[in-house]
Amino acid sequence: TSGVGPAAARTRTTCGYCGVGCALDVVTQNGEVAAVLPARDGPVNHGHACVKGRFSHGFRTSPERLTRPLLRRGGTLEPAGWDEALAHVARGLRAAVDAGGPDAVAAISSARATNEDNYLVQKFMRVVIGTNNVDNCSRLCHSPSAAGLTASFGLSGGTDSFDDVERADCLLVVGANPVEAHPVVGARLLNRVLHGAKLVVADPRAVGLALHADVHLRPRPGTNVALFHGLAHILLAERLADEEFLRARATGLPELTQLLADYPPDRVADITGVPAPDLVAAARLYGRAERPAIVYGLGVTEHLHGTDGVRSLANLAILRGAVGTDRGYGVNPLRGQNNVQGASDMGALPDLLPGYGKVTDPAVRSRAERVWGVTVPARPGLRIPDMFAAARAGDLRALWVIGEDVCATDPDASHVAQALDACPLVVCNELFLSETARHADVVLPVASWLEKDGTFVNFDRRFQRVRPAVPPPGETRTDFDIVRALAKAMGVDLGCATPADALAECARLAPVFAGLSHDRLDHEGAVPWPCPDPDRPGEAKLYLERFATPDGLAHLAATPYLPPGEEPDDSYPLVLVTGRRWAHYNSGSMTRRGGNLALDPVDFLDLHPDDAARYEVRGGEQVTVESRHGRARLIARVSEQTAPGQVFCSFHFPASGINRLTSDHADTVTSCPEYKVTAVRVAPP
Ligand code: SF4
Repeated sequence: TSGVGPAAARTRTTCGYCGVGCALDVVTQNGEVAAVLPARDGPVNHGHACVKGRFSHGFRTSPERLTRPLLRRGGTLEPAGWDEALAHVARGLRAAVDAGGPDAVAAISSARATNEDNYLVQKFMRVVIGTNNVDNCSRLCHSPSAAGLTASFGLSGGTDSFDDVERADCLLVVGANPVEAHPVVGARLLNRVLHGAKLVVADPRAVGLALHADVHLRPRPGTNVALFHGLAHILLAERLADEEFLRARATGLPELTQLLADYPPDRVADITGVPAPDLVAAARLYGRAERPAIVYGLGVTEHLHGTDGVRSLANLAILRGAVGTDRGYGVNPLRGQNNVQGASDMGALPDLLPGYGKVTDPAVRSRAERVWGVTVPARPGLRIPDMFAAARAGDLRALWVIGEDVCATDPDASHVAQALDACPLVVCNELFLSETARHADVVLPVASWLEKDGTFVNFDRRFQRVRPAVPPPGETRTDFDIVRALAKAMGVDLGCATPADALAECARLAPVFAGLSHDRLDHEGAVPWPCPDPDRPGEAKLYLERFATPDGLAHLAATPYLPPGEEPDDSYPLVLVTGRRWAHYNSGSMTRRGGNLALDPVDFLDLHPDDAARYEVRGGEQVTVESRHGRARLIARVSEQTAPGQVFCSFHFPASGINRLTSDHADTVTSCPEYKVTAVRVAPP
């Protein structure tokens, strides 16, 4: 804080980047951010923060920041007043409903929005428009976690608090690169390993933690389910399963046992490319540990069979009795974005209301109807990919995109842009003139996480407060204010005058949040859900007495391995995997507008030296990458971090066109895109 004078003020808030949820003290002077300090008493970060949360706040004052609404007139986006912009949107939404009914309107909410913003967005769609066409960006990352964990255990979240995970004596880290993507958690995991915990890393790349692993499994992308079945096969074959737990608290063992007979180590080695002895070594480490824990990331979910991947990974914890007991720390997804857990918790989903009640359940709907005073539609709405398909087909007439740059981050980006262009009204809440905003008819400038009030939910289900450290610039408004103002422009009072009111209303509606309030969070700092009682702590560790499934049991899943949607062939011989790098966040719209750009100024296409030689590519030269769906240009970097036959790049620099390469293959259960497996070829520019 050197250089920060006595007039400085501090505001405690929660980081707006990754899902770790570091508590930060934002130091301001003369109305501007002077420094961002990690809070020593931060419940997750304990005085640490990474290069994103700590230093990437320059975006706030970027000259590119939108500060006035924009309205498309004669093909050009031009500045407009708020009243004019909101009236235009209200007229457009009414026209869309008149022409095609409520289901001709859809909204995409996001992790950029607070819980209270998300709550109000889904309420707007259900109450003002009368549709369940609302989804959020978890569709693109952890929707298979929600589906898989719910099916296996009963609730849509990690099973344990990270504080417990840190007490594990064996960590199985799968499809995640926490050292770069979730640095504070990466450091805590590494610290645990340095203090004696065994570490098994399962990831095709030599990610940072793999350097410290006792066993590093490098499966071919898209073969996770076979890998997990192979590990489960060994657990059973070597009698490392917890038979008492399986008898008392699980179901599905006979079916799984029968399936696993087809997954002996040699066959799994053929499918995955992981040597059988490494499989056995990994299974023994996990199987013999006293307190094993599983931590996983998008390398498990972003697949054609992502939900099967989550469920077959969960099988391992169930077989070991390492979930819902004190003999292990369950299955814990690392959420990539600050509030991607919360966006779903708040019901910004086409089939679920706040707190995960199904819209098809009359009892759930009637509880919401009592609070909202309207009839809630019973038919599930469109998922994000279906929204784009409906727009291309002419069935979707208005789309509201809140904080997502869908043209940059969604797969098969050319088709997304076509969908937006085909939709008569596209409204975009944005910080900058993003790729998506360029296709919008109305762009509404919004407050950033440094400028708004509310809460986020982090990756281990903790609600934490978000507080405005500085005022939003220019005429910028919060998402919360915009949703309320638009409802008013359409003649509806949504209630919820403040974000605190919105969380209070959500708590009345959803029993799992009934004990939560801003006041409580202001006093306690962080409270995990489920939290049904204001006088009792939230449940950090789940399922100690019973699982939340209808029969109270953990459900083993016997789902066979099926190949990915794309496999390399003679025309496209390499597999592209995309992921995150340490200095940037998602589409990079915030982290590229500040000092972090100097730390990591361009994106690279990483490829193995053997492939560089085979395709005559030199490090540092620009190459063209082609898939069956599109073309991108990147600078080659030769690195053994990437396995032979694979290439890797981030999605932080959309200008490279990386998501024009990715396919529209998606998880068969949740429609989560198969970002982790795209067949490509590399050619000189
Ligand atoms: Fe913490 Fe993640 Fe923010 Fe880094 S980006 S400070 S690890 S919450």
